Amino acid sequence: MSAAHSPTLSLACDLIARESVTPTDAGCQAMLAARLSASGFRCETLQFGEVTNLWATWGEGRRTLLFAGHTDVVPAGPLELWDTPPFTPTVREGLLFGRGAADMKGSIAAMVTAAERFTARHGAPAATLAFLITSDEEGVAVDGTARVVEELRKREQPVDWCVVGEPSSGASLGDTVRNGRRGSLSATLRVIGRQGHVAYPQLADNPIHRLARIAAALSEERWDDGNRYFPPTSLQVSNIAAGTGAENVIPAHADMRFNFRFGSASEPEALQSRSEAIVAAHASRYTLDWRLSGQPFYTPEGRLTEAVSTAVAEHLGIEPQLSTGGGTSDGRFIAPLGAQVVELGPINATIHQVNEHVSIADLERLSAVYEDIMQRLLAA
Ligand SMILES: [Zn+2]
Repeated sequence: MSAAHSPTLSLACDLIARESVTPTDAGCQAMLAARLSASGFRCETLQFGEVTNLWATWGEGRRTLLFAGHTDVVPAGPLELWDTPPFTPTVREGLLFGRGAADMKGSIAAMVTAAERFTARHGAPAATLAFLITSDEEGVAVDGTARVVEELRKREQPVDWCVVGEPSSGASLGDTVRNGRRGSLSATLRVIGRQGHVAYPQLADNPIHRLARIAAALSEERWDDGNRYFPPTSLQVSNIAAGTGAENVIPAHADMRFNFRFGSASEPEALQSRSEAIVAAHASRYTLDWRLSGQPFYTPEGRLTEAVSTAVAEHLGIEPQLSTGGGTSDGRFIAPLGAQVVELGPINATIHQVNEHVSIADLERLSAVYEDIMQRLLAA
């Protein structure tokens, strides 16, 4: 690594070099804890099962600004498709390449260096600056942020404002700030028929035909019209599996999985009961299992969105758009603490892809924006 690398770029490189595929942390958090401790943070490792979590605080005030993120990354995928090895941070033409560069080791580096500069400039603050870093955001996310939040609740640790460093930006850095996320509800359906010979359908009951009607009806249903915070609820079928492999056999059952992304215009219970009614209209024998993996959350415009929008406008010269699009994030666990939560991070064009990368200039600018947010909420 060249001596010319800035603190943010150097730290991002050190993180990418650690192969921290979910739930492995590979020493990322120990390195971050060492850096934050040197700046006066109290650092605590909360290990739950295989998952390593870091909780770090600076200052004593009750008002708390939390920066949240994850050190884990998704697998590299086929190595031969990468131009450079995914866990060898590579700088080329102003870009930093490597798995996690954009999602989200770059943002973590930007947050930590922002905190280093902020704490160096301020004495005893009237508020608390905190970090919550997990190594299980990309996986099942059971022993990560959700467990740490349980612990914070027990300790009656307040969180007023939270900035999650997820890559929220589209075409240019800061163009989008997420101030909410839709909920996610998944279903696994098995339609049970009666196996038989395709030449004697009267002696069988074809579950594939029933399933096809159910898929059509579910996909055509209008679940809600959305509201001013969220787009209309959407249902997508993600898997269909059936058949014995033989061309002359009607199978005994057919399986399907589907998923709702819903806003606050629909309750998950209502989506479930309406789906069940549609299934029951086309099949008398079936099993239907549900998994609610995230409730929606929404942060109305207020102190946090104002601080973030102003910081983005001053440093990046654009008005960010507040949006509730995209998938779920760990913000869904933090918001129920009563926190205002937004997500602000790099451009998300290459996340989870081969040749994932981030602009080095963007990392520096992101770090300046994060520091300005600290300044506006904690030092004002
Ligand atoms: Zn992420």
